[in-house]
Amino acid sequence: MQILLVDDSAVYRKLIGDHLRSWEFDFTVAETGADAWQVLERPDAPKLVLLDWVLPDIEGIELCQRIRKVGTTGHYVYVILLTSKQGRQDMLDAMNAGVDDYLVKPFDASELKARLLVGKRILNLQDELVAARESMRHEATHDSLTGLLNRGEIFGMLERELERARRERKPLSVILGDIDHFKQVNDTCGHLFGDEALQEMARRLHSKLRVYDGVGRYGGEEFLLVLPSCGLDDALARANELRETIAATPIMHGGIERSITMSLGVAVSECVGVKELEPLLNRADAALYAAKANGRNRVEASDPAPGNTNPGHTPKASAHKA
Ligand code: GH3
Ligand code: MG
Ligand code: MG
Repeated sequence: MQILLVDDSAVYRKLIGDHLRSWEFDFTVAETGADAWQVLERPDAPKLVLLDWVLPDIEGIELCQRIRKVGTTGHYVYVILLTSKQGRQDMLDAMNAGVDDYLVKPFDASELKARLLVGKRILNLQDELVAARESMRHEATHDSLTGLLNRGEIFGMLERELERARRERKPLSVILGDIDHFKQVNDTCGHLFGDEALQEMARRLHSKLRVYDGVGRYGGEEFLLVLPSCGLDDALARANELRETIAATPIMHGGIERSITMSLGVAVSECVGVKELEPLLNRADAALYAAKANGRNRVEASDPAPGNTNPGHTPKASAHKA
């Protein structure tokens, strides 16, 4: 763990620096408050600061207030104030400014080491808390089997993107994909093979996403893709690419090899208003239903392509039928 040592006294810098080195702490040195602030603004800034109170420019207390107010690069900074001031009011002022600990100069070396170890432990706890929060956030927003966004999250994304599409008057497409005859896959190859197939479908869908696209698990073996700024022709091409990617390579797991296909329904937002989510999904669902009815392993759109009265843009089912 990196420490930032801030002291304008060369004697103290040498003394404390020697201790830190002998205790095998990594540290950076700053001689003024302004220099210290520059170090703290770096993305890899130290998280533990040994701060002198009286400095030639920005005082230690002021620097600490700034750290607490502005925040640095998102992580907590643990501040130990080192000072020759020793009044009770001074200590209260320092604590009010957001200092975590306080040590009076001249200090005892082992006491400094003990305080540093406490700071290190608190920062480690903080890291663990942040990691736990991140993992809970991930669990709450992602599907545990496939790792894709869960239903609530992909709906949330769709709602936000519909609002943006309406504001920017841009198209937005959704693709609803459903694995063909998946019950049969489970029945003949086993549920574990089915789970593996779902995970592999998720990987293939995810591998075809662009930066602003989203994909989520809509239901059991159904997936929803949200494609911002994507019109009908583009969405149909993307859906066909996905269909081909899925059909082209069989799933292999546990000594079983089986081709899997997906039917996909495409719908494009008409940017009419915020209440569009449900009708849009209903249209995608109707297109998916048509893809199933027309033979599976194919793509259907709910809207005719602009200027195209011939529904021939939906491809014929290709090989690799389940
Ligand atoms: P269709 O081509 O008409 O879509 O037929 P289908 O068999 O895919 O559709 P159906 O709705 O009859 O069956 C869906 C199957 O998906 C049944 C269910 O057991 C399976 N399924 C849903 N979630 C999971 C899962 O998490 N793991 C596994 N292995 N199977 C799942
Ligand atoms: Mg199905
Ligand atoms: Mg289904």
